[in-house]
Amino acid sequence: MNASDEANTTLVVGGGLAGLATALALRNIAGLSEVRIVEASTDESFNNIQEGAGVQLGPNGLRALRFIGGEALLSKIMENGVELKGTVIVISSKMDPMVIPDTAEADTGLSQVFIPWGVMRSLLAEQLPSDSISTGVGGDITGYQPVESTIQPMITPDEPFLPQSFDLVVGADGAASTFRHLIQNDATFLPPNEAQAARRSDLKDGGRMNIKAVVPKKMDEASFKPGHSYAHFAAGGGVACFAGPASADSTYWAISIADEKKDEETEDVFEFLSDIDMNDNKAVKQTLLSKLKGLELEECQFVIDLIESTESECIYLQRSIEAESIGPSLVSKDNNIVLVGDAAHCMSNSYGQSSNFAFEDAASLAVCIRDGKDLGSALETFSESRVARCIEMQTRSAERAAKAMKGEQVEDVSKWIFEWDIQ
Ligand SMILES: Cc1cc2nc3c(=O)[nH]c(=O)nc-3n(C[C@H](O)[C@H](O)[C@H](O)COP(=O)(O)OP(=O)(O)OC[C@H]3O[C@@H](n4cnc5c(N)ncnc54)[C@H](O)[C@@H]3O)c2cc1C
Repeated sequence: MNASDEANTTLVVGGGLAGLATALALRNIAGLSEVRIVEASTDESFNNIQEGAGVQLGPNGLRALRFIGGEALLSKIMENGVELKGTVIVISSKMDPMVIPDTAEADTGLSQVFIPWGVMRSLLAEQLPSDSISTGVGGDITGYQPVESTIQPMITPDEPFLPQSFDLVVGADGAASTFRHLIQNDATFLPPNEAQAARRSDLKDGGRMNIKAVVPKKMDEASFKPGHSYAHFAAGGGVACFAGPASADSTYWAISIADEKKDEETEDVFEFLSDIDMNDNKAVKQTLLSKLKGLELEECQFVIDLIESTESECIYLQRSIEAESIGPSLVSKDNNIVLVGDAAHCMSNSYGQSSNFAFEDAASLAVCIRDGKDLGSALETFSESRVARCIEMQTRSAERAAKAMKGEQVEDVSKWIFEWDIQ
């Protein structure tokens, strides 16, 4: 028996980028054949390639994906995404913009690539046997019960989620994770009647609203440098605007808006969009446009034009949230549950690395299981290395921010991030 034999039947809970990449890695690298995925969202939503906005893949994420899916997967990503050549910082309409060339390719041999989020998900999903993915299920799992050396996910203590039990459950259930709560509290069930709150109990809000979309039109090459992302940070730090190519024939935009103080005395905060229904995308679009136009900044015009040409249902909203802490362990004491992706490390200051780190998790977990003499030690090795990487990322980000505040020269943390390789 080795770790792969002990993880023979594996259930991945969550069919986001982390869950799909992990299922693929466990099949391709660790040689597990019985890996099943359950995804809470509907079939229609899961198969919608327009869902989400876009993700920026760095050399570390691409290296992990190549390891998981081979050159064939990497080629598909390159075909469907766009290589980034640099960033243009729009400072003011009276000053020339600052052009920062992207050195990822020169430094690592792999460039940074932007790809629509739904396309990335579909590229991963199509590598997996379609009957291994079940949609519209799993959202009601609140715990598990041990069955000899396996575990059975449960809806309630009396109602199993599925009739069978599993050697390993991979919690890829995103930031508001059931399985992170169970591991951190050494519990087998979420507290009754408080499941929703418990999943979020260790998340803190970063005080920003992020709004994004991909628009099906090519970036205008007369106004924008091909292959470049554009950014403008409006004075005061309240609003940041980004846009760039998302694929050969589409463009993304993203806006990050800080909450405002509603009342100086009580320090009540006003969340942007707090007074409108977050599912009412038309209202979101109108409110966003009036906020940006209200700034009366010519420098924001490049995103205003894009937002105006966006179908409101394509807009994706995200609060900036992060877990209070990462670890200490990503594995349950009984070695039957392991966390990946945002469930494992929902971080701020992550340089937009959530998806890249999820792909690193997937490749690392599969290697640890492939090479482990038993499942317990394989999962421990995985957990230690991933927690250490995330903590180092947080430390380097904090040091960078502190130096920047003092006007000192700062380290380019991306270089360290991009160096990651399969151990
Ligand atoms: C629909 C969608 C669109 C996104 N678009 C973008 C984007 O455009 N840009 C960007 O930077 N990031 C986006 N993200 C977030 C980004 O993908 C993640 O931050 C990162 O890739 C880590 O992924 P993850 O799989 O760990 O978490 P997530 O992407 O949050 O995926 C978790 C998945 O698990 C499912 N799930 C949760 N609980 C259960 C359960 N109990 N049973 C079954 N399934 C469950 C969720 O439905 C979700 O599909 C998006 C996420 C989602 C879900």
